[in-house]
Amino acid sequence: MKVKILTIFPEIFPGFLGYSLTGKALKEGIWSLDAINIRDYAFDKHGSVDDTHCGGGAGMVMRPDVLGAAIKANYHHGRLIYMSPRGRQLTQSYAHELSREKELTIICGRFEGIDQRVLDAYNVEEVSIGDYILTGGEQGAQIMLDAVIRLLPGVLGNSESLGDESFENSLLEHPQYTRPICWEGREVPEVLLSGHHAKIAEWRKAQSLEITEKRRPDLMKKYLDSKRV
Ligand code: SAH
Repeated sequence: MKVKILTIFPEIFPGFLGYSLTGKALKEGIWSLDAINIRDYAFDKHGSVDDTHCGGGAGMVMRPDVLGAAIKANYHHGRLIYMSPRGRQLTQSYAHELSREKELTIICGRFEGIDQRVLDAYNVEEVSIGDYILTGGEQGAQIMLDAVIRLLPGVLGNSESLGDESFENSLLEHPQYTRPICWEGREVPEVLLSGHHAKIAEWRKAQSLEITEKRRPDLMKKYLDSKRV
C-alpha cells in the first residue's frame, strides 16, 4: 500500500509507525510512506497556509489555494481522506475496507480545520477517530494507519493472527494470561492449563460474551443480530 500524507509537520512521520510490526512492514516495503509538506505549496516566502475565518470567529483556517495546490500535485489514485471529527468514525470493519486500497492520500488538518471548498472540490472522504478533538490530523492519521497497516497481508505473523481479537466478530476479547501460573496469590484459571482445546475455546467464548454484554451492550446486540440471519 502506498501512503501519502499532506501535513505541515512531515517530521512527525512515521512516528510510532516506524516501530514494531508497522515499522518492519515499512522496511520490507509492504507499505510506503511519503510525507509531503503543505508549506512547500505556499505562495509567499513565509509559507503561509492559514488565514482568519470568513465571518469571524476564533482561530485560523487552512487556505484552499495552498492545500488545493498540494492535493493537485500529489493526489492521483485511490482514496483521498481528511482526518476530521465530523467524519465517518473509524471502526475495525472500516479499517478492513481501507486496507484493501492500493493507495491512500491523507490530509492532516491543523488550526480550526480546512476550507470547505477543498472538501467539496475533491469530494474528500472524512474520517474521525472518535468523538473528541485533537490538535491535529497527524495523530489521528497515525492511529488510523496503525489499524489499517496491521491488516495488510504479511504484517502479522501467525503468532499474532487476527482470529479472535476484539471487534473481529463483534465481540470483545476474553481475558488473557501467561506465566507465572501463580502471581501474588492469583492463579491462572484452571481450564487454561487443562490442555483440553475444546473446553478452552468454550471458556474463552463464554468470557467474551460475558464481558461484551457487560461493557458494550451495543456490540452484543450487533453480535446477536448477526447470528439471527
Ligand atoms: N474546529 C474543528 C476541530 C479542529 S482540530 C471542529 O470543531 O470540528 C484540528 C485538526 O485536528 C482537524 O482539522 C482534524 O484534521 C484533526 N482532528 C481533530 N479531532 C479529530 C478526530 N476526532 N478525528 C480525526 N481528526 C481530528
